[in-house]
Amino acid sequence: MEELRVKRRIVLVPVPAQGHVTPIMQLGKALYSKGFSITVVLTQYNRVSSSKDFSDFHFLTIPGSLTESDLKNLGPFKFLFKLNQICEAGFKQCIGQLLQEQGNDIACVVYDEYMYFSQAAVKEFQLPSVLFSTTSATAFVCRSVLSRVDAESFLLDMKDPKVSDKVFPGLHPLRYKDLPTSAFGPIESILKVYSETVNIRTASAVIINSTSCLENSSLAWLQRELQVPVYPIGPLHIAASAPSSLLEEDMSCIEWLNKQKLGSVIYISLGSLALMETKDVLEMAWGLSNSNQPFLWVIRPGSIPGSEWTESLPEGFSKLVAERGYIVKWAPQMEVLRHPAVGGFWSHCGWNSTLESIGEGVPMICRPFTGDQKVNARYLERVWRIGVQLEGELDKGTVERAVERLLVDEEGVEMRKRAIDLKEKLEASVRSKGSSCSSLNNFVSSLKMKNFM
Ligand code: UDP
Repeated sequence: MEELRVKRRIVLVPVPAQGHVTPIMQLGKALYSKGFSITVVLTQYNRVSSSKDFSDFHFLTIPGSLTESDLKNLGPFKFLFKLNQICEAGFKQCIGQLLQEQGNDIACVVYDEYMYFSQAAVKEFQLPSVLFSTTSATAFVCRSVLSRVDAESFLLDMKDPKVSDKVFPGLHPLRYKDLPTSAFGPIESILKVYSETVNIRTASAVIINSTSCLENSSLAWLQRELQVPVYPIGPLHIAASAPSSLLEEDMSCIEWLNKQKLGSVIYISLGSLALMETKDVLEMAWGLSNSNQPFLWVIRPGSIPGSEWTESLPEGFSKLVAERGYIVKWAPQMEVLRHPAVGGFWSHCGWNSTLESIGEGVPMICRPFTGDQKVNARYLERVWRIGVQLEGELDKGTVERAVERLLVDEEGVEMRKRAIDLKEKLEASVRSKGSSCSSLNNFVSSLKMKNFM
């Protein structure tokens, strides 16, 4: 293949949500370290700050966008649909402006799979583009499979308890109920969004924040089906650190952790979007209390409906916290997971949290809420065997048992050994000659080839 004069600018288009911003900014850092200039195109909603960590990046804002209250009113799926409609013209304008100001130096546009409006501009200006998937490869496979099912009969299967417990054909060990359906909207609109996200249109490649030691068969499936190169280059948080928290981290929890015994603390965080019901919070609290283990709990303001923060919780709850717990509004999660006092992570199993926990060798209690979290939880329990999944109604007895299994029992010791083994494999994959490191180098080389388009 003929080599071109290498164009130096890569344009990134993140979804304006923490779980998507984090990995794309890490990808930006990884590509910057390979000599590319990075332009991040933001929407006016939930902006990344162009802080000192990204002072070498160039930021543009798509004119006209949605607001926080649009997300509340529309819910995530309708919000995404609308965002894609609204941003198409503004993004074309941004790219046009960029081409004019910086010369024709765009090597490619890397867009989050949920920001598929990017394709219209890419087509108009005849630019190469790459789809970036911030979920697991297995979740991508599931979305591809779901985008082809008949919504009506799938819904009937999901409602039938005899079927929903069964393994979905071809997706072992995922059951019907583990598939990334969502509580955030009717099945028809979810499947519609999924078919948009897996439609690679004119993209020349797919980059995935995963690695072959975690998801070999799903990656092979994608490589077979997608007809363009698939580059698994993760976990990006190990390959390229890039602090991009949209909320302020409360560092005081690290001082609290410093006072706790080695491997004794259960860290609880349900990511940036999940909402908890008060009754579940109470079962969790009493289960934690009965387990006698210390806990560090992230409760985001507004994440318990009807409560600004924790004020709707009963008196006894603050006593329990004072004795053995610590609550913050937002934690420096990576530092927390790395802390020797942390013995387990109760998580909603978002893909970033999953990778971050495995990356620190921390076993998990899995309580997924929706979407791809269910896929990750099943893999944590059944494939990597480093997690205990809590299914069905939450009650304090089950919570207590799960904490003990993870932090006290021999079973937890075995899970931690497997988690540490995986951590070492992840680290090896991003080191020189590791599979993810080679994959990133191959992607960069492909940008120099004439037929990359
Ligand atoms: N996170 C954090 N502090 C917290 C809770 C979460 O920094 O108190 C970060 C976490 O490290 C992860 C991201 O927020 O990188 C959440 O992403 P994930 O994919 O796990 O879940 P989502 O928020 O998308 O549901």
